[in-house]
Amino acid sequence: MIRNRHRDRQSPYLLLPNIGQLLTLRGDSTPRRGSALNEVNLIQDAAVLCSGGKIIAAGPQREMLRHPWVKKNRRKLAEIDCRGRVVLPAFVDCHTHPVFVNPRLVDFEKRINGAHYEEIAAAGGGIRSSIGPVRESSRKALSGKVQVALEAMLRQGTATVEAKSGYGLSAKDEIKSLEAIRDAAQHWPGAVSPTLLAAHVVPPEFTEKPQAYVELICEELIPAVARRKLAHYVDVFCERGAFTLEQTHEIFAAAHRNGLDTRAHVCQFTPTLLKELLAYKPASLDHMDCVHQDDVALLGQSRTVAVLLPGASYFLGHKEYPDARRLIDSGVPIALATDYNPGTSPTPSMPFIMSLACTHMKLTPAEAIAAGTINAACALRLQDRKGSIEPGKDADMAVFDVHDYREIAYWFAWNRCAEMIVAGKRQNLDGN
Ligand SMILES: [Zn+2]
Repeated sequence: MIRNRHRDRQSPYLLLPNIGQLLTLRGDSTPRRGSALNEVNLIQDAAVLCSGGKIIAAGPQREMLRHPWVKKNRRKLAEIDCRGRVVLPAFVDCHTHPVFVNPRLVDFEKRINGAHYEEIAAAGGGIRSSIGPVRESSRKALSGKVQVALEAMLRQGTATVEAKSGYGLSAKDEIKSLEAIRDAAQHWPGAVSPTLLAAHVVPPEFTEKPQAYVELICEELIPAVARRKLAHYVDVFCERGAFTLEQTHEIFAAAHRNGLDTRAHVCQFTPTLLKELLAYKPASLDHMDCVHQDDVALLGQSRTVAVLLPGASYFLGHKEYPDARRLIDSGVPIALATDYNPGTSPTPSMPFIMSLACTHMKLTPAEAIAAGTINAACALRLQDRKGSIEPGKDADMAVFDVHDYREIAYWFAWNRCAEMIVAGKRQNLDGN
């Protein structure tokens, strides 16, 4: 996890009183499955105590104000009066692609006129159209783009972000992209988990020899990235027109040889049999729009989190969304993320994703919140520090200007996030 280098003079002792509804999401450090996904651990009239960037205690206000820690530290204590509003763990956006330069407006209009994703890709649009501008940009310019996205995410309640490379697609440009993520993360108060996605598509210079590109990823890029600690995860877009299951195996094996964990884009447009990939114990398998029934049962027994990305279904104009109810009812741990990217999901907003999850995938508002906090933290294996409000965890919290937590998914495309506390510090959300 990359943390920022800021130091400021806010008091390290913080009290959040007068919380109308506090959603702690506390529990054990495993992802929530089945009916447990619906439990947000709501406390009315609550308060939270923080010190040194960590949660000290959270509970009913009467108890918190009598807490010996409050008496001992009263003179040093800073307060943020929550005025009856809703407080919950800051969101964890566990799947984003922020290192790009331009929006894809030509593709946007082509799709409006009836073209499909694969037709656009075959005509040189899609992911391939983002490669040139990333290769031509400096690391500094790219890090500026990432920083703008991270700031937009923070303003909508997110304090932990997984960020992928994937538009450079050469050793030099993928490393430059990961360095841009690291640079941006160091200027952002939240935490960033970086992922190498060199296996996004085969770049044009390797069209005739895709296997040579896979070898470059396995033999050159993954070892270099691991050596320089530029990524925690290796990701593969395993899909028709991108990388095969066999190639995904090779890349996952190379990741493990170099001490990196894995995650993959699967089953977005065509089903892939997941059984063999699960042997690598990937942290997450993402998209999951069309999953084979046998795999659903296997996923129900595994700790791999299924990350659902309804923003992509929305933006591509799909009538079908991932079948979240089938996954939840089969005991599969699910998470939600924005999939922030220029082609299929240009949104930084977790509340909007939660609204889509409720309206199109029939999650309850409570399930959507658990999927965007504690389960998303599990998808990044950060559940010991992120995703819930309980003693010892990082004090990352969002204050929403609503009186009932269900309003967060209800007021769609209306940002109700009023305050962000990250590592125990109040953030200024007025910038940019
Ligand atoms: Zn993606």
